[in-house]
Amino acid sequence: MTNNQARPGLPLDLDRDTIAELGRHAVDFMADRIGELESAPASDYRQAEQLAALLLRPPGDDPGDFRELLETFRQAAGQGVNTAGPGYLAYFPAGGLVSSVLAEMLAQAANRFTGVAQTAPALVAMEQSVLAWSCELFGLPAGAGGVVTTGASLATLSALVAARHDRLGDDARDGTLYVTEHTHLSVAKAARIAGLPADRVRVVPATAGLRMDAGAAAELIAADRAAGLRPFLLAGTAGTTSTGTVDPLPELARLARTEGLWFHVDAAYGGGFQLTARGRARLAGIEQADSIAFDPHKSLFMPYGTGVLLVRDPAVLHAAHAADGQYLQDLDRVADLPDFGHLGAELTREFRGLRLWLPLHLHGVRAFAEALEEKLDLAALVHRELGRDPRVELPWEPDLSVVVFRVRGGDEANRDLLARINATRRIYLSSTSVGGRFYLRLCVLSVRTRASHVHEALRIIRAAVDQHIWSNTETSAR
Ligand SMILES: *Cc1c(COP(=O)(O)O)cnc(C)c1O
Repeated sequence: MTNNQARPGLPLDLDRDTIAELGRHAVDFMADRIGELESAPASDYRQAEQLAALLLRPPGDDPGDFRELLETFRQAAGQGVNTAGPGYLAYFPAGGLVSSVLAEMLAQAANRFTGVAQTAPALVAMEQSVLAWSCELFGLPAGAGGVVTTGASLATLSALVAARHDRLGDDARDGTLYVTEHTHLSVAKAARIAGLPADRVRVVPATAGLRMDAGAAAELIAADRAAGLRPFLLAGTAGTTSTGTVDPLPELARLARTEGLWFHVDAAYGGGFQLTARGRARLAGIEQADSIAFDPHKSLFMPYGTGVLLVRDPAVLHAAHAADGQYLQDLDRVADLPDFGHLGAELTREFRGLRLWLPLHLHGVRAFAEALEEKLDLAALVHRELGRDPRVELPWEPDLSVVVFRVRGGDEANRDLLARINATRRIYLSSTSVGGRFYLRLCVLSVRTRASHVHEALRIIRAAVDQHIWSNTETSAR
């Protein structure tokens, strides 16, 4: 076929053979890509510029070739930070569990409407079963419920909107909520989207261990009340983003109850560890939450775009989000099943439940628990091993699977150290600042990060530290 000869067009509605053929290419592509993750660089930008030119082309009127287009995608997907690979130890790795990827494809193929129960009651029941399981996992009482979202940010927004509606009514401008400097930005962002003035987000001092100081929170709440403000929400974190630290949830729960505040727990990262004995011990108190944000795309290894909001009382969530229109008049409630479109910001929504339901049933819950036990062990190993080196400072014992460290010396030296480590392109770490100081941050959470990768990471870090000390000595000797 020459270039100026038009390709036979592909109809929009594909026949069975074509579906099977394209599907085979797509699944082969996926299997190859997953197979290559072990040896693929942890970060790669070498072709990004050259590809950008190719990718900025608008679609043509004439049909393209599936395999050529897949090839373009393959090249594009190879650029950037390899978040699905075993060497990804930055931010929060998402394992991108392949069984969940397949579930997503199947869910989109079924393409039933799960915004209300009536249009797909059995699929809504599947999604509801995963939510009920999650509620039980966190120790929420019977009758608790929730909604599967795209991530913790949207879960947090709906939690905050429910709390505002329930505790403040229509005029929320004098409502105040309580976080620490270590709380994720999604809480303040949700408050802003929900129309609260920025100064209504009160930053409670944290202890030296980076946990919310419950006594200080009580004082702040009392002062705000005395000033005529209306405290309405206390946000605890079960695994902070910077250091993986868990706030003192039982104390915060007690304070919220005494003060009549909505108790929100951000377990976006830490939630999955509830499947482990150590995690349950650390997260004790979470069962008293009014709402919990949890990201299966973090600690259940799911692909990006999988979040969960759980609430003690779904009626409150419903009251804050439900809306009606004449065009919905044919739709009746289904007994015992939720209408997810009335529990969150979306009406039309993809059937996200299968991404959770299929892997949990296919692998079994124990497989997840064991994998998470392993991540806790590996993070503890990193902490222990780095702690043997007198040149490395580790001010905080990991509560979960995040290890924060720095070498003795200034921030600049530590920035250099991070750059040196990431330049190996075998592993990828990120950094954070605590108390105005720069720290390197290593998080073990990818389903693909096993002991061998963690040992390699330790070798790379040690080698970079050796080099760092050597070049410093050289500089000072000059
Ligand atoms: C990641 C994270 C969030 C935000 O979740 P998204 O899924 O990115 O929207 C909120 N809180 C904590 C503690 C997080 O780690």
